[in-house]
Amino acid sequence: MLRRATDEVQVGLDPRWAVRVDGLTPERAERLLRAGDRHVDDALPAPALDALGAAGLLRPATARARPVRADLRPEALAHGLVRADGDGVAAVRRRSRSTVAVVGLGRAGAVVATTLAVAGVGTLLLDDPRVPGPEDPAGDGADRATALTGALGLLAPRTRVRAARGRDRLLADPPDAVVTVSADATDPATALLLLGADLPHLPVVTREADALVGPFVRPARPGDDPLPCLRCLDLHRAAADPAWPVVLAQLVSPRVGARAAEPPAALATVAGGLAAAEVLAHLDGEEPRTSGAQYEIEVPSVAPRLRRWAAHDGCGCAALVG
Ligand SMILES: [Zn+2]
Repeated sequence: MLRRATDEVQVGLDPRWAVRVDGLTPERAERLLRAGDRHVDDALPAPALDALGAAGLLRPATARARPVRADLRPEALAHGLVRADGDGVAAVRRRSRSTVAVVGLGRAGAVVATTLAVAGVGTLLLDDPRVPGPEDPAGDGADRATALTGALGLLAPRTRVRAARGRDRLLADPPDAVVTVSADATDPATALLLLGADLPHLPVVTREADALVGPFVRPARPGDDPLPCLRCLDLHRAAADPAWPVVLAQLVSPRVGARAAEPPAALATVAGGLAAAEVLAHLDGEEPRTSGAQYEIEVPSVAPRLRRWAAHDGCGCAALVG
């Protein structure tokens, strides 16, 4: 609530719903400024109520404000404003009952896990298939999952964090979504395993100076257009470049003398943040923007571009999913 003039108050800043309420007596303007989450109907003329209602800023007097954890109020407020049902509290509560696995805990994976924890996801399963090296900030043998668990305990103490060693453990107790974070390329075997297990999953790939986020792959619902899986993308790439399977095989197998490269910091942060937003959209019951698409993020601007991908006729994933 902001005063614009003695007879005019502005509600909100975001141009999608910000409303100017004018023609108020000074007393009514004052009451509106101090109204907060209380009744306003007797303070406002009907056109002002209509404008606030159209902007989604009113709640019926009969609907009580539902309590939400103080640290999650920004989530509930923002998501409530943009959701069709206006219910940010229900979305945040669903997150707290959800489990997300993050596999690959370098810079981008750490951003994914941290963002999900701070956004209220109840349980995180953390795994990093790589052997810790001297470049790891955790240093002398402490593995990445353990190091990150310690950091998350400080940042988001309400989130349960468990180490999930290996793919079998993941499938034994399936999470609501899996984020795989890899350098150079996603391992097709892992992607196929997640697809076959009907586990919603999102690949993040960081390369020497760019990153890819998506496509988000989930079980199809009745009436869906076919959505691509990771193998669909590899089949499209192979159609454009017959040597792609040979290149891909090298990217996902351990190479002699190769060290897992970390992406530049800003690239890792943007890619990790976008990936977390996609998973939150799924948990909140919305459609992730990378369903059937992939964010491409390049250094130096790290401004994401969304590229659409179609399912590949030769893949057969539509028969597997669902
Ligand atoms: Zn496919």
